[in-house]
Amino acid sequence: MPLIVRKAEPVLKIVFLNPNSLAMFKKSIPILVVSALVCNISFGQKQDSIQLKKISDEIMLHGKAYSWLDYLSNRIGARLSGSPQAAAAVEYTHQLMDSIGADTVYLQPCMVPRWRRGDKETAKILTNNAGEFAVNICALGGSIGTPQGGITAEVVEVSSYDELKKIGLTGGVKGKIVFYNVPFDPTFVNTFDSYERTFDYRWSGASQAAKYGAVGTVLRSLASGINDYPHTGVMQYNDSVKIKLPACAISTQGAELLSKLLKNDPKLRFHFEMGCYTMPDVQSYNVVAELKGTEHPEEIIDVGGHLDSWDLAQGSNDDGAGIVQSLEVLRTFRAMGIKPKRTIRVIMFMNEENGGRGGKKYAEEAKRKGEKHIVAMESDAGGETPLGFGIDGTDAQRAAILRWKGLLLPYGLYDFMGTDGGSDIEKLKDQGTLLLGLNPDSQRYFDTHHTPIDTFDRINKRELELGAASMTMMLYLVSQYGIK
Ligand SMILES: [Zn+2]
Repeated sequence: MPLIVRKAEPVLKIVFLNPNSLAMFKKSIPILVVSALVCNISFGQKQDSIQLKKISDEIMLHGKAYSWLDYLSNRIGARLSGSPQAAAAVEYTHQLMDSIGADTVYLQPCMVPRWRRGDKETAKILTNNAGEFAVNICALGGSIGTPQGGITAEVVEVSSYDELKKIGLTGGVKGKIVFYNVPFDPTFVNTFDSYERTFDYRWSGASQAAKYGAVGTVLRSLASGINDYPHTGVMQYNDSVKIKLPACAISTQGAELLSKLLKNDPKLRFHFEMGCYTMPDVQSYNVVAELKGTEHPEEIIDVGGHLDSWDLAQGSNDDGAGIVQSLEVLRTFRAMGIKPKRTIRVIMFMNEENGGRGGKKYAEEAKRKGEKHIVAMESDAGGETPLGFGIDGTDAQRAAILRWKGLLLPYGLYDFMGTDGGSDIEKLKDQGTLLLGLNPDSQRYFDTHHTPIDTFDRINKRELELGAASMTMMLYLVSQYGIK
């Protein structure tokens, strides 16, 4: 349906010519009025506007996402890939999909890595003139452990790889622990921009430091605030660097302390001990539910989040929120009896955090079967107030999504500037699939990300449901009209 045709239509005339009608109208369907005023909608869009309001109301009045997340967080808990809790989460969401009633529900096997933290890590700063300071650290996911008894060495603080190289080339790193102290840049309004710019120190900092003879690395947690919780997250050893170093993250508070002490006492030593290790891969699953399209079943629209989480907390925000919001899309279509014209698939991806194996497997299978995935949406940026969607696609695909901007604006969805879809769906892009990423308010996300305080009590029910409503409304439009 050509939604972009915009004509003067009866709704606007009524609104402007008859103030009494406006009053009545406002009382009954205020969002429709706002929508009409904002975007000068056509008759077709008026019908869509009414349908979007019904979708939003269904979720805000009868949504189940919050109670599902309660179960996932408080009954199942941390869901690191290959753990019994990850297996329980597969079982739980499979049962939920069955009970909601999709056309098909199935498990898609994939092999996942099994990294284990072992005993809680310990660390202390040993000064030459002010005593010892115990500090909070955690191993980075994928790191090797330290030898028993830990590692103790002097510290080289750097704020960039350039600085590391400069010191390293003169032999100043040899036998020492490299301390990457790279804070988030507070001038970036979207905190994901800061995360992107510091991510590589976590990802490859250990191998970079190993090149210059370091014995271990300590990373300032990738976080926007100052607190005493270290943030874990995945790291990787570079194949071209033979030596693997143990790599940990220190809380931002600990990083500030270490940096301050180093200024007065450059010869201080840092001690840390970690018992983490890796076991052989094990089989796990993506969990998939499908609603068959009535007119174009061959055109597939994906929506999902990742079922695994880090081991330190309940993973309520990362990414339990995305999981239950995606399930809410399915529930809402079923509860309202909406028959999508195109096929909708809801996917609980496994192993986003430390391998991305579920996303890779899903894209591989889609390619192998010759499936046509027109749009894939992911929610993996938290359950906070939704502001819009990131769009990763061609100009034409972007334009196809933006024609609905006016319909979505009344729900607070105005930010379509981002270009991120999500890491579980990114492999589908090779097939020309348009990627959409729910874009929530990012200000609090990196306070709790990958820490012990990513817990259910920090989730706001309304914000979580608004995110689910945003996703469902967008997917309704895509399922009705496609993206041509
Ligand atoms: Zn995530």
